[in-house]
Amino acid sequence: MLFPTHLLVVVPLVFETGLPALMLLAGSALPDIIDKSLPALGLTETYHSIAHSIFTVAFLTVAGSVYKPLFAFSLAYSIHVLLDVIQVGINEPSGNWMFVFWPVRFPENPLKLPPVKFLKHYMGTKAFYLEIFLWLATGVYLILTLG
Ligand SMILES: [Zn+2]
Repeated sequence: MLFPTHLLVVVPLVFETGLPALMLLAGSALPDIIDKSLPALGLTETYHSIAHSIFTVAFLTVAGSVYKPLFAFSLAYSIHVLLDVIQVGINEPSGNWMFVFWPVRFPENPLKLPPVKFLKHYMGTKAFYLEIFLWLATGVYLILTLG
């Protein structure tokens, strides 16, 4: 979502909740201010990293519920990240919304991998073990039926 839209979204909260406008605006702006600056400084590779992480949001949510002056900030911050997840999820449903789990990294879409790399990826997944079970079950079935 574009930066000005993040600021716009908290305007109703300013008027309807009476929460401090400065804290709401700061909370809605800070994720982008931080995460758009980090790649420019060479500290991260993407524009959604530590400030857009669910772990940062969780920390701020706890902090905002324990320390009331931070509540408006943490609320607006959480809304910012939620809207970015929704926006990326709508535009790029291939899983790019999982930036929110930063620093946990997820592999590229495995269906785009060449066969050997796909096989290396596939071995060890849950579906791989399901296939092993199907092969064994079929083998037992064939032995019992034909043998
Ligand atoms: Zn953002």
